[in-house]
Amino acid sequence: MSDIINTSSRASGQSVIGRDKDRVLSDDKPFEDMMARFDHAAELLGLDAGLYKVLRAPEKQIIVSIPINRDKGDVEVFTGYRVLYNTSRGPAKGGIRFDMRVTLDEVKALAAWMTWKCAVVNIPFGGAKGGVVCDPTALSLTELERITRRYTAALIDVIGPESDIPAPDVNTNERVMAWIMDTYSMHMRRSVTAVVTGKPIEMGGSLGRREATGRGCMIATREALQHLGMPVKGTRVAVQGFGNVGSVGADLMSKEGMTVIAISDNSAAIYNKKGVDITAALAWTREHRYLKGFPGGEPMGKNDLLTLDVDVLLPAAVENVINRNNAKDIKAKIICEGANGPTTAHADPILDEKGVFVIPDILANAGGVTVSYFEWVQNRGAYYWDEATVNERLARIIRNSFQDVLTLSTRHSVNMRTAAYMLAVDRVAAVHRLRGMYA
Ligand code: NAD
Repeated sequence: MSDIINTSSRASGQSVIGRDKDRVLSDDKPFEDMMARFDHAAELLGLDAGLYKVLRAPEKQIIVSIPINRDKGDVEVFTGYRVLYNTSRGPAKGGIRFDMRVTLDEVKALAAWMTWKCAVVNIPFGGAKGGVVCDPTALSLTELERITRRYTAALIDVIGPESDIPAPDVNTNERVMAWIMDTYSMHMRRSVTAVVTGKPIEMGGSLGRREATGRGCMIATREALQHLGMPVKGTRVAVQGFGNVGSVGADLMSKEGMTVIAISDNSAAIYNKKGVDITAALAWTREHRYLKGFPGGEPMGKNDLLTLDVDVLLPAAVENVINRNNAKDIKAKIICEGANGPTTAHADPILDEKGVFVIPDILANAGGVTVSYFEWVQNRGAYYWDEATVNERLARIIRNSFQDVLTLSTRHSVNMRTAAYMLAVDRVAAVHRLRGMYA
Protein backbone atom coordinates (compact mmCIF):
# COMPACT_ATOMS: atom_id res chain seq x y z
CA MET A 1 0.00 0.00 0.00
CA SER A 2 1.30 3.46 -0.71
CA ASP A 3 0.42 7.04 0.15
CA ILE A 4 0.61 10.06 -2.02
CA ILE A 5 2.61 12.96 -0.63
CA ASN A 6 1.53 16.08 -2.44
CA THR A 7 4.58 18.30 -2.48
CA SER A 8 2.57 21.23 -3.83
CA SER A 9 1.10 21.74 -0.38
CA ARG A 10 4.55 22.42 1.05
CA ALA A 11 6.37 25.71 1.29
CA SER A 12 6.75 27.26 -2.13
CA GLY A 13 9.98 26.40 -3.89
CA GLN A 14 9.82 28.07 -7.26
CA SER A 15 13.57 27.74 -7.71
CA VAL A 16 13.37 23.96 -7.72
CA ILE A 17 12.14 22.48 -10.95
CA GLY A 18 11.68 19.09 -12.48
CA ARG A 19 10.51 17.20 -9.42
CA ASP A 20 7.54 14.88 -9.21
CA LYS A 21 4.70 16.84 -7.77
CA ASP A 22 2.89 13.71 -6.64
CA ARG A 23 5.60 11.42 -5.46
CA VAL A 24 4.37 7.98 -4.53
CA LEU A 25 5.88 6.84 -1.25
CA SER A 26 6.03 3.22 -0.35
CA ASP A 27 7.85 1.52 2.51
CA ASP A 28 9.60 -0.82 0.08
CA LYS A 29 11.08 2.06 -1.94
CA PRO A 30 13.74 3.33 0.46
CA PHE A 31 15.31 5.67 -2.10
CA GLU A 32 12.00 7.45 -2.75
CA ASP A 33 11.36 7.67 0.99
CA MET A 34 14.77 9.19 1.58
CA MET A 35 14.42 11.58 -1.31
CA ALA A 36 11.01 12.82 -0.12
CA ARG A 37 12.83 14.18 2.93
CA PHE A 38 15.62 15.59 0.77
CA ASP A 39 13.01 17.29 -1.45
CA HIS A 40 11.35 18.91 1.53
CA ALA A 41 14.68 20.29 2.79
CA ALA A 42 15.67 21.40 -0.72
CA GLU A 43 12.40 23.24 -1.11
CA LEU A 44 12.74 25.05 2.23
CA LEU A 45 16.34 25.98 1.38
CA GLY A 46 15.27 27.29 -2.01
CA LEU A 47 17.93 25.10 -3.60
CA ASP A 48 18.50 26.13 -7.19
CA ALA A 49 17.25 23.85 -9.94
CA GLY A 50 20.67 22.76 -11.18
CA LEU A 51 22.02 21.76 -7.78
CA TYR A 52 18.77 20.00 -7.02
CA LYS A 53 19.32 17.78 -10.05
CA VAL A 54 22.97 17.16 -9.14
CA LEU A 55 22.25 16.22 -5.52
CA ARG A 56 19.44 13.86 -6.51
CA ALA A 57 21.73 11.76 -8.69
CA PRO A 58 24.10 9.16 -7.18
CA GLU A 59 27.64 9.79 -8.46
CA LYS A 60 28.54 6.17 -9.09
CA GLN A 61 26.55 2.90 -8.98
CA ILE A 62 28.53 -0.30 -9.36
CA ILE A 63 27.19 -3.84 -9.76
CA VAL A 64 29.71 -6.69 -9.59
CA SER A 65 29.49 -10.45 -10.03
CA ILE A 66 31.22 -12.42 -7.30
CA PRO A 67 31.97 -15.99 -8.41
CA ILE A 68 33.29 -18.29 -5.69
CA ASN A 69 33.94 -21.99 -5.25
CA ARG A 70 31.60 -23.31 -2.56
CA ASP A 71 33.11 -25.68 0.00
CA LYS A 72 31.55 -28.66 -1.81
CA GLY A 73 33.29 -27.70 -5.07
CA ASP A 74 30.40 -26.18 -7.04
CA VAL A 75 30.57 -22.61 -8.32
CA GLU A 76 28.13 -19.94 -7.22
CA VAL A 77 27.90 -16.37 -8.43
CA PHE A 78 26.75 -13.69 -6.00
CA THR A 79 25.83 -10.09 -6.81
CA GLY A 80 27.45 -7.14 -5.05
CA TYR A 81 26.77 -3.42 -5.13
CA ARG A 82 28.65 -0.30 -4.17
CA VAL A 83 27.12 3.13 -4.54
CA LEU A 84 29.08 6.36 -4.06
CA TYR A 85 26.33 8.88 -3.61
CA ASN A 86 28.25 12.13 -3.27
CA THR A 87 31.95 12.79 -2.67
CA SER A 88 32.07 16.58 -2.90
CA ARG A 89 33.04 16.96 0.79
CA GLY A 90 35.65 14.19 0.87
CA PRO A 91 36.17 10.45 0.35
CA ALA A 92 33.03 8.33 0.31
CA LYS A 93 32.23 6.58 3.61
CA GLY A 94 29.75 3.84 4.31
CA GLY A 95 29.24 0.27 5.41
CA ILE A 96 28.89 -3.02 3.57
CA ARG A 97 26.00 -5.35 4.36
CA PHE A 98 25.61 -9.03 3.57
CA ASP A 99 21.93 -9.84 3.34
CA MET A 100 19.38 -11.51 1.07
CA ARG A 101 17.29 -8.33 1.06
CA VAL A 102 20.04 -6.13 -0.40
CA THR A 103 18.86 -4.26 -3.51
CA LEU A 104 20.41 -1.48 -5.56
CA ASP A 105 17.56 0.79 -4.50
CA GLU A 106 18.28 0.17 -0.82
CA VAL A 107 22.04 0.65 -1.27
CA LYS A 108 21.41 3.94 -3.08
CA ALA A 109 19.19 5.17 -0.25
CA LEU A 110 21.71 4.16 2.39
CA ALA A 111 24.54 5.86 0.45
CA ALA A 112 22.52 9.10 0.29
CA TRP A 113 21.81 8.73 4.02
CA MET A 114 25.55 8.51 4.70
CA THR A 115 26.13 11.69 2.67
CA TRP A 116 23.67 13.65 4.82
CA LYS A 117 24.85 12.02 8.06
CA CYS A 118 28.50 12.95 7.50
CA ALA A 119 27.44 16.49 6.60
CA VAL A 120 25.23 16.88 9.72
CA VAL A 121 28.17 16.13 12.00
CA ASN A 122 30.47 18.08 9.67
CA ILE A 123 33.10 15.41 9.10
CA PRO A 124 34.97 15.62 5.78
CA PHE A 125 33.43 12.58 4.10
CA GLY A 126 30.94 11.92 1.36
CA GLY A 127 28.48 9.04 1.47
CA ALA A 128 28.59 5.48 0.15
CA LYS A 129 27.15 2.07 0.87
CA GLY A 130 27.71 -1.46 -0.36
CA GLY A 131 26.07 -4.81 -0.16
CA VAL A 132 26.25 -8.41 -1.29
CA VAL A 133 23.09 -10.40 -1.84
CA CYS A 134 23.74 -13.50 0.24
CA ASP A 135 22.52 -15.34 3.30
CA PRO A 136 25.50 -15.37 5.68
CA THR A 137 23.82 -18.00 7.87
CA ALA A 138 23.95 -20.43 4.95
CA LEU A 139 27.65 -19.82 4.28
CA SER A 140 30.72 -21.21 6.00
CA LEU A 141 33.37 -18.84 7.32
CA THR A 142 35.70 -19.71 4.45
CA GLU A 143 32.94 -19.07 1.89
CA LEU A 144 32.26 -15.69 3.53
CA GLU A 145 35.96 -14.90 3.32
CA ARG A 146 36.06 -15.80 -0.39
CA ILE A 147 33.02 -13.60 -1.09
CA THR A 148 34.57 -10.71 0.85
CA ARG A 149 37.93 -10.96 -0.88
CA ARG A 150 36.45 -11.30 -4.38
CA TYR A 151 34.06 -8.39 -3.75
CA THR A 152 37.03 -6.30 -2.56
CA ALA A 153 39.09 -7.27 -5.61
CA ALA A 154 36.20 -6.31 -7.89
CA LEU A 155 36.14 -2.87 -6.26
CA ILE A 156 39.90 -2.41 -6.06
CA ASP A 157 39.86 0.74 -8.21
CA VAL A 158 36.98 2.23 -6.27
CA ILE A 159 37.80 1.80 -2.59
CA GLY A 160 40.85 3.39 -0.98
CA PRO A 161 41.75 5.71 1.90
CA GLU A 162 41.45 8.76 -0.34
CA SER A 163 38.42 7.64 -2.33
CA ASP A 164 35.99 5.28 -0.59
CA ILE A 165 36.29 3.78 2.89
CA PRO A 166 34.01 0.84 3.77
CA ALA A 167 32.92 -0.12 7.30
CA PRO A 168 30.81 -2.85 8.93
CA ASP A 169 27.04 -2.91 8.53
CA VAL A 170 24.33 -5.60 8.77
CA ASN A 171 26.00 -9.04 9.02
CA THR A 172 29.55 -7.76 8.55
CA ASN A 173 32.00 -7.18 11.37
CA GLU A 174 35.61 -6.59 12.40
CA ARG A 175 36.70 -9.87 10.86
CA VAL A 176 35.21 -8.94 7.47
CA MET A 177 36.96 -5.55 7.68
CA ALA A 178 40.26 -7.34 8.38
CA TRP A 179 39.80 -9.44 5.19
CA ILE A 180 39.03 -6.31 3.14
CA MET A 181 42.07 -4.51 4.53
CA ASP A 182 44.28 -7.53 3.83
CA THR A 183 43.00 -8.02 0.27
CA TYR A 184 43.40 -4.34 -0.56
CA SER A 185 46.88 -4.28 1.01
CA MET A 186 47.97 -7.34 -1.02
CA HIS A 187 46.97 -5.55 -4.23
CA MET A 188 48.75 -2.34 -3.15
CA ARG A 189 51.89 -4.22 -2.00
CA ARG A 190 51.83 -2.43 1.37
CA SER A 191 49.66 -2.35 4.48
CA VAL A 192 46.88 0.19 4.07
CA THR A 193 45.06 0.40 7.39
CA ALA A 194 42.96 3.47 6.46
CA VAL A 195 41.08 1.68 3.67
CA VAL A 196 38.42 0.45 6.12
CA THR A 197 37.16 1.43 9.56
CA GLY A 198 35.63 -0.77 12.24
CA LYS A 199 38.77 -2.93 12.19
CA PRO A 200 40.04 -4.97 15.12
CA ILE A 201 41.96 -2.72 17.56
CA GLU A 202 45.12 -4.82 17.04
CA MET A 203 45.31 -3.75 13.38
CA GLY A 204 44.43 -0.08 13.70
CA GLY A 205 40.84 0.02 14.95
CA SER A 206 39.93 2.89 17.25
CA LEU A 207 39.26 2.56 20.94
CA GLY A 208 35.64 3.53 21.62
CA ARG A 209 34.41 2.61 18.09
CA ARG A 210 32.27 -0.31 19.29
CA GLU A 211 30.42 1.86 21.79
CA ALA A 212 30.36 5.01 19.65
CA THR A 213 26.86 4.78 18.17
CA GLY A 214 25.15 3.94 21.46
CA ARG A 215 27.21 6.63 23.18
CA GLY A 216 26.12 9.18 20.57
CA CYS A 217 22.47 8.18 21.19
CA MET A 218 22.90 8.71 24.92
CA ILE A 219 24.51 12.13 24.41
CA ALA A 220 21.83 13.27 21.93
CA THR A 221 19.10 12.09 24.31
CA ARG A 222 20.70 14.02 27.18
CA GLU A 223 20.72 17.16 25.01
CA ALA A 224 17.05 16.65 24.10
CA LEU A 225 16.06 16.19 27.75
CA GLN A 226 17.87 19.38 28.67
CA HIS A 227 16.21 21.25 25.80
CA LEU A 228 12.76 20.07 26.88
CA GLY A 229 13.46 20.84 30.54
CA MET A 230 13.16 17.19 31.54
CA PRO A 231 15.42 15.62 34.19
CA VAL A 232 17.90 12.92 33.24
CA LYS A 233 17.57 11.02 36.52
CA GLY A 234 14.58 8.73 36.52
CA THR A 235 13.71 9.33 32.85
CA ARG A 236 11.91 6.19 31.70
CA VAL A 237 13.36 4.61 28.56
CA ALA A 238 12.31 1.74 26.27
CA VAL A 239 14.93 0.25 23.95
CA GLN A 240 14.13 -1.84 20.88
CA GLY A 241 17.07 -3.98 19.77
CA PHE A 242 19.80 -5.26 22.06
CA GLY A 243 22.69 -5.46 19.61
CA ASN A 244 25.58 -3.06 19.24
CA VAL A 245 23.56 0.16 19.32
CA GLY A 246 20.70 -0.84 21.64
CA SER A 247 22.70 -2.64 24.31
CA VAL A 248 25.36 0.07 24.57
CA GLY A 249 22.71 2.81 24.42
CA ALA A 250 20.70 1.13 27.20
CA ASP A 251 23.82 0.56 29.29
CA LEU A 252 25.08 4.14 29.02
CA MET A 253 21.63 5.63 29.56
CA SER A 254 21.16 3.60 32.73
CA LYS A 255 24.65 4.61 33.89
CA GLU A 256 23.55 8.25 33.41
CA GLY A 257 20.69 7.65 35.83
CA MET A 258 17.85 6.97 33.37
CA THR A 259 15.56 4.03 34.11
CA VAL A 260 15.38 1.57 31.24
CA ILE A 261 12.03 -0.11 31.83
CA ALA A 262 11.92 -2.26 28.67
CA ILE A 263 14.38 -3.87 26.28
CA SER A 264 13.89 -6.23 23.37
CA ASP A 265 15.65 -8.19 20.69
CA ASN A 266 14.54 -10.53 17.95
CA SER A 267 13.76 -13.25 20.49
CA ALA A 268 11.87 -11.45 23.28
CA ALA A 269 10.86 -8.22 24.98
CA ILE A 270 11.36 -7.71 28.73
CA TYR A 271 9.52 -5.23 30.94
CA ASN A 272 10.46 -4.17 34.46
CA LYS A 273 8.68 -1.19 35.99
CA LYS A 274 11.54 -0.58 38.43
CA GLY A 275 14.16 -0.68 35.69
CA VAL A 276 15.87 -3.57 33.92
CA ASP A 277 19.33 -4.39 35.28
CA ILE A 278 21.24 -3.76 32.03
CA THR A 279 24.50 -5.20 33.36
CA ALA A 280 22.66 -8.46 34.08
CA ALA A 281 20.96 -8.41 30.67
CA LEU A 282 24.34 -7.93 28.98
CA ALA A 283 25.78 -10.85 30.93
CA TRP A 284 22.74 -12.96 29.94
CA THR A 285 23.08 -12.21 26.23
CA ARG A 286 26.82 -12.86 26.35
CA GLU A 287 26.05 -16.34 27.63
CA HIS A 288 22.75 -17.13 25.86
CA ARG A 289 23.09 -14.88 22.82
CA TYR A 290 19.44 -13.73 22.97
CA LEU A 291 17.27 -12.09 25.66
CA LYS A 292 14.73 -14.92 25.62
CA GLY A 293 14.53 -16.43 29.10
CA PHE A 294 16.20 -13.44 30.82
CA PRO A 295 14.75 -13.51 34.34
CA GLY A 296 15.13 -9.77 35.12
CA GLY A 297 11.56 -8.75 34.21
CA GLU A 298 8.26 -9.88 32.72
CA PRO A 299 7.99 -10.88 29.07
CA MET A 300 5.92 -8.52 26.92
CA GLY A 301 4.88 -8.28 23.26
CA LYS A 302 7.78 -7.09 21.13
CA ASN A 303 5.68 -4.53 19.26
CA ASP A 304 4.00 -3.34 22.48
CA LEU A 305 7.37 -2.00 23.64
CA LEU A 306 7.13 0.74 21.03
CA THR A 307 3.91 2.15 22.44
CA LEU A 308 4.82 1.95 26.14
CA ASP A 309 4.24 4.98 28.33
CA VAL A 310 7.87 6.17 28.53
CA ASP A 311 9.77 9.43 28.24
CA VAL A 312 12.30 8.17 25.70
CA LEU A 313 12.01 5.52 23.01
CA LEU A 314 15.26 4.26 21.47
CA PRO A 315 14.48 2.18 18.37
CA ALA A 316 17.81 0.47 17.69
CA ALA A 317 16.89 -2.56 15.62
CA VAL A 318 15.51 -2.34 12.09
CA GLU A 319 13.82 0.13 9.76
CA ASN A 320 10.15 1.11 9.38
CA VAL A 321 9.07 0.01 12.89
CA ILE A 322 7.32 3.32 13.58
CA ASN A 323 4.89 3.66 10.74
CA ARG A 324 1.41 4.81 9.80
CA ASN A 325 -0.11 1.90 11.76
CA ASN A 326 1.36 2.61 15.19
CA ALA A 327 2.57 6.25 15.12
CA LYS A 328 -0.66 7.50 16.68
CA ASP A 329 -0.15 5.15 19.65
CA ILE A 330 3.40 6.29 20.49
CA LYS A 331 3.50 7.76 24.01
CA ALA A 332 7.20 8.62 24.26
CA LYS A 333 8.02 12.32 24.44
CA ILE A 334 11.38 11.78 22.75
CA ILE A 335 12.32 9.28 20.05
CA CYS A 336 16.06 8.84 19.61
CA GLU A 337 16.55 7.04 16.29
CA GLY A 338 19.43 4.68 16.99
CA ALA A 339 18.55 2.55 13.95
CA ASN A 340 18.70 3.83 10.40
CA GLY A 341 15.22 4.66 9.15
CA PRO A 342 13.11 3.35 12.05
CA THR A 343 10.39 5.92 11.24
CA THR A 344 8.65 5.97 7.86
CA ALA A 345 7.95 9.26 6.08
CA HIS A 346 4.23 8.57 6.64
CA ALA A 347 4.73 8.51 10.41
CA ASP A 348 6.54 11.86 10.58
CA PRO A 349 3.47 14.14 10.40
CA ILE A 350 1.58 11.96 12.88
CA LEU A 351 4.43 12.26 15.41
CA ASP A 352 4.65 16.01 14.75
CA GLU A 353 0.94 16.35 15.44
CA LYS A 354 1.40 14.56 18.77
CA GLY A 355 4.34 16.80 19.70
CA VAL A 356 6.88 13.98 19.85
CA PHE A 357 10.46 15.29 19.74
CA VAL A 358 12.30 13.08 17.22
CA ILE A 359 16.10 13.07 17.14
CA PRO A 360 16.54 11.91 13.53
CA ASP A 361 18.80 9.00 12.64
CA ILE A 362 21.24 11.13 10.64
CA LEU A 363 22.02 12.94 13.90
CA ALA A 364 21.18 10.40 16.62
CA ASN A 365 23.27 7.51 15.31
CA ALA A 366 26.09 9.56 13.78
CA GLY A 367 28.41 8.63 16.66
CA GLY A 368 29.49 5.52 14.76
CA VAL A 369 30.66 7.30 11.64
CA THR A 370 32.22 10.05 13.75
CA VAL A 371 34.51 7.59 15.51
CA SER A 372 35.11 5.86 12.15
CA TYR A 373 36.41 9.23 11.03
CA PHE A 374 38.63 9.31 14.14
CA GLU A 375 39.88 5.82 13.24
CA TRP A 376 40.78 6.97 9.71
CA VAL A 377 42.53 10.07 11.12
CA GLN A 378 44.52 7.93 13.58
CA ASN A 379 45.49 5.46 10.82
CA ARG A 380 46.70 8.24 8.57
CA GLY A 381 48.61 9.94 11.37
CA ALA A 382 49.84 6.58 12.73
CA TYR A 383 49.20 8.04 16.17
CA TYR A 384 46.60 6.48 18.45
CA TRP A 385 44.41 8.25 20.98
CA ASP A 386 43.32 6.94 24.38
CA GLU A 387 39.66 6.12 24.87
CA ALA A 388 38.94 9.20 26.99
CA THR A 389 40.15 11.43 24.13
CA VAL A 390 37.96 9.57 21.61
CA ASN A 391 34.89 9.85 23.87
CA GLU A 392 35.48 13.48 24.70
CA ARG A 393 35.87 14.46 21.02
CA LEU A 394 32.82 12.41 20.09
CA ALA A 395 30.71 14.06 22.80
CA ARG A 396 31.73 17.50 21.59
CA ILE A 397 30.74 16.73 17.98
CA ILE A 398 27.35 15.23 18.90
CA ARG A 399 26.53 18.08 21.30
CA ASN A 400 27.50 20.75 18.76
CA SER A 401 25.64 19.02 15.93
CA PHE A 402 22.52 18.68 18.10
CA GLN A 403 22.64 22.39 18.84
CA ASP A 404 23.22 23.27 15.15
CA VAL A 405 20.15 21.24 14.17
CA LEU A 406 18.06 22.62 17.04
CA THR A 407 18.94 26.19 16.07
CA LEU A 408 17.79 25.60 12.48
CA SER A 409 14.67 23.84 13.68
CA THR A 410 13.71 26.82 15.83
CA ARG A 411 14.65 29.39 13.20
CA HIS A 412 12.57 27.76 10.46
CA SER A 413 9.83 26.29 12.70
CA VAL A 414 10.45 22.80 11.34
CA ASN A 415 10.97 19.51 13.11
CA MET A 416 14.44 18.18 13.92
CA ARG A 417 14.47 15.80 10.93
CA THR A 418 13.77 18.53 8.41
CA ALA A 419 16.30 20.79 10.14
CA ALA A 420 18.96 18.05 10.01
CA TYR A 421 18.35 17.52 6.29
CA MET A 422 18.44 21.27 5.71
CA LEU A 423 21.77 21.55 7.51
CA ALA A 424 23.23 18.60 5.59
CA VAL A 425 21.94 19.55 2.15
CA ASP A 426 23.07 23.14 2.64
CA ARG A 427 26.59 22.01 3.59
CA VAL A 428 26.89 19.68 0.59
CA ALA A 429 25.41 22.31 -1.73
CA ALA A 430 27.83 24.96 -0.44
CA VAL A 431 30.81 22.82 -1.46
CA HIS A 432 29.31 22.19 -4.90
CA ARG A 433 28.91 25.93 -5.40
CA LEU A 434 32.52 26.58 -4.39
CA ARG A 435 33.89 23.78 -6.56
CA GLY A 436 31.78 24.71 -9.56
CA MET A 437 30.92 22.38 -12.42
CA TYR A 438 33.75 20.47 -14.09
CA ALA A 439 33.05 20.03 -17.79
P1 NAD B 1 22.92 -5.59 15.64
O1 NAD B 1 22.76 -6.65 14.61
O2 NAD B 1 24.11 -5.60 16.52
O3 NAD B 1 21.63 -5.53 16.60
C1 NAD B 1 20.32 -5.51 16.11
C2 NAD B 1 19.41 -5.91 17.26
O4 NAD B 1 18.05 -5.75 16.87
C3 NAD B 1 19.56 -7.37 17.69
O5 NAD B 1 19.49 -7.44 19.09
C4 NAD B 1 18.33 -8.03 17.06
O6 NAD B 1 17.94 -9.21 17.76
C5 NAD B 1 17.33 -6.93 17.24
N1 NAD B 1 16.13 -7.03 16.43
C6 NAD B 1 16.01 -7.36 15.12
N2 NAD B 1 14.70 -7.32 14.77
C7 NAD B 1 14.01 -6.96 15.88
C8 NAD B 1 12.65 -6.74 16.16
N3 NAD B 1 11.72 -6.88 15.21
N4 NAD B 1 12.29 -6.36 17.41
C9 NAD B 1 13.22 -6.19 18.38
N5 NAD B 1 14.53 -6.39 18.16
C10 NAD B 1 14.92 -6.76 16.93
O7 NAD B 1 22.83 -4.21 14.81
P2 NAD B 1 23.32 -2.77 15.28
O8 NAD B 1 24.70 -2.56 14.78
O9 NAD B 1 22.99 -2.57 16.72
O10 NAD B 1 22.39 -1.85 14.37
C11 NAD B 1 21.06 -1.59 14.70
C12 NAD B 1 20.56 -0.45 13.84
O11 NAD B 1 21.40 0.69 14.04
C13 NAD B 1 20.58 -0.70 12.33
O12 NAD B 1 19.52 0.02 11.74
C14 NAD B 1 21.90 -0.08 11.91
O13 NAD B 1 21.91 0.27 10.51
C15 NAD B 1 21.92 1.13 12.79
N6 NAD B 1 23.24 1.72 12.99
C16 NAD B 1 24.26 1.00 13.52
C17 NAD B 1 25.51 1.58 13.72
C18 NAD B 1 26.63 0.85 14.37
O14 NAD B 1 27.69 1.48 14.61
N7 NAD B 1 26.49 -0.41 14.71
C19 NAD B 1 25.72 2.92 13.32
C20 NAD B 1 24.65 3.65 12.79
C21 NAD B 1 23.42 3.02 12.63
